[in-house]
Amino acid sequence: MTHPEHQRRAYLQAMGIDVWLPRDAAEPEEPVVIASAVAVAEGLDWGELRRCVAECTRCGLATSRTQTVFGVGNEDADWMIIGEAPGAEEDRRGEPFVGRAGKMLNEMLRAIGQSRDAVFIANTLKCRPPNNRDPKPAEAAACRDYLDRQIALVQPKIILAVGKIAAQNLLGSDDSVGKMRGYPHDLNGIPLVVTYHPAYLLRSPSQKRKSWSDLCLARRLISEGTA
Ligand code: URA
Repeated sequence: MTHPEHQRRAYLQAMGIDVWLPRDAAEPEEPVVIASAVAVAEGLDWGELRRCVAECTRCGLATSRTQTVFGVGNEDADWMIIGEAPGAEEDRRGEPFVGRAGKMLNEMLRAIGQSRDAVFIANTLKCRPPNNRDPKPAEAAACRDYLDRQIALVQPKIILAVGKIAAQNLLGSDDSVGKMRGYPHDLNGIPLVVTYHPAYLLRSPSQKRKSWSDLCLARRLISEGTA
């Protein structure tokens, strides 16, 4: 796939890659990339990672956010829940899943004997996209190593990806939730189960049955020791 030049530059910039242009060529065909995409979050402890996220200016969302939304819960959790991105309420309060979708997520957790304090909840993006639009690929790419570091620090036994955006980003897939759910995936050795986003379940309560079966699958994977 070829990208327009400006799009490619925006993508590289969002990933923290310096693009150096020859002085005598204002619009070269190819950008000259001299810095590699160093995953700066790698090796950070919780405190360092929190500070790094709070001060992040890797993409344009830094200019529109009220605050970053790091994640919340048990840093040694067995369950890690990963959603899409903060919404308006999350942006205001600095905590993921605190709006209507959050109440639904709490119910889902209660149904499997878990609570917000017992699990760790994070998003693929740490900043709210304006007007709750879908995250852009470059924004997700820029934010990815924060999430990877959170996963590495928590070392969950199971990851529950809620919604299409989280599942597609984590698994590098273009599939629908309908295609990705119902069986275990593997994310660098950690079992991952895909289910519907709680906001979608609020709109389509008839899908709750499928989501319940996804939660049971995740619970079974833990109890069988597969997770
Ligand atoms: N939806 C998400 O995916 N994450 C949140 O934190 C809130 C709503």
